[in-house]
Amino acid sequence: MSQPLLSQKESKVTIVGAILNLILAAIKISAGTLGGSYALISDGFHSLSDLVSDGVVLCGIYFANLPPDENHTHGHGKIQTLLEIGMGVLLIFVAYEIGKEAAFSIFEQKQSNASFLTISVAVVSIFIKEGLFWYTYKIGKELDDSMLIANAWHHRSDSLSTIGVLIGLIVIYFKPEWGVVDSFIGFVIAVLILKVGFEVILDAMKRITDTVPDKSFLEDILKIANEVAEVEHPHDIGVRFLGNKIAIEIHIEVNPKMTVLQAHDISDLVAKKIRKYDSKITQVLVHVDPKGIEEDRRGLNLESLQK
Ligand SMILES: [Zn+2]
Ligand SMILES: [Zn+2]
Repeated sequence: MSQPLLSQKESKVTIVGAILNLILAAIKISAGTLGGSYALISDGFHSLSDLVSDGVVLCGIYFANLPPDENHTHGHGKIQTLLEIGMGVLLIFVAYEIGKEAAFSIFEQKQSNASFLTISVAVVSIFIKEGLFWYTYKIGKELDDSMLIANAWHHRSDSLSTIGVLIGLIVIYFKPEWGVVDSFIGFVIAVLILKVGFEVILDAMKRITDTVPDKSFLEDILKIANEVAEVEHPHDIGVRFLGNKIAIEIHIEVNPKMTVLQAHDISDLVAKKIRKYDSKITQVLVHVDPKGIEEDRRGLNLESLQK
């Protein structure tokens, strides 16, 4: 049972990230308001939306580890996917709000200011986010956890967006008449948040609709089953997503004279090998057919896929 330990470490990294995002949001929004930098305020709202996404990751860890019960026999992974869609909608809403404000200040030629305060807040924020990137990335690699690694890259993209803000502030510091640069950078940040929002929704929609990652995924799994001695004509492969986890079902054909015990051992071996292919595959259901039976309902087998 390594699962509880895994989720403990995952939760700890995510909570550290959430606390830092909260602090960053507070200092960026207040320094941006005091110092008159629209880009820094946008960046602060970005950190606030990151805080929400940290919350979704934590809920995801909770639901992903909640065992199946009589109401949800396949576990609660899809609840995590629904939460991700909600998070995507929220990101689009945040992007719309800050993009609208930035666009108005561009049209109204509002002059932003740069001061020692706003510049130093941007610098501190870049260092914190870079540190968070390395911390999350290291633990993500250690646990081989794709959700944490994705979150780490998100921290890296946040520090890049703050580097954009910093460049704008430095330009305005030396050339105050170029104050509108700041609003442009605020607008670009809004577009980037919008893009992330759509990507999050698209990715979650693919999993909710059980979209196969790619054709080679099916081929590889059929080949793994086919390589087991005594297994013939693996067919009727099915892929379903349970949150970030994957459930596979597959039919194999064996000698009809085989005992149930032998057939059972073979199907266990097939399941074990398929689970090894991808750590996201947590459930494998192998259905045993007597050799020669013609009942390939989905028509999904090695020959049909290689056409
Ligand atoms: Zn972000
Ligand atoms: Zn079959």
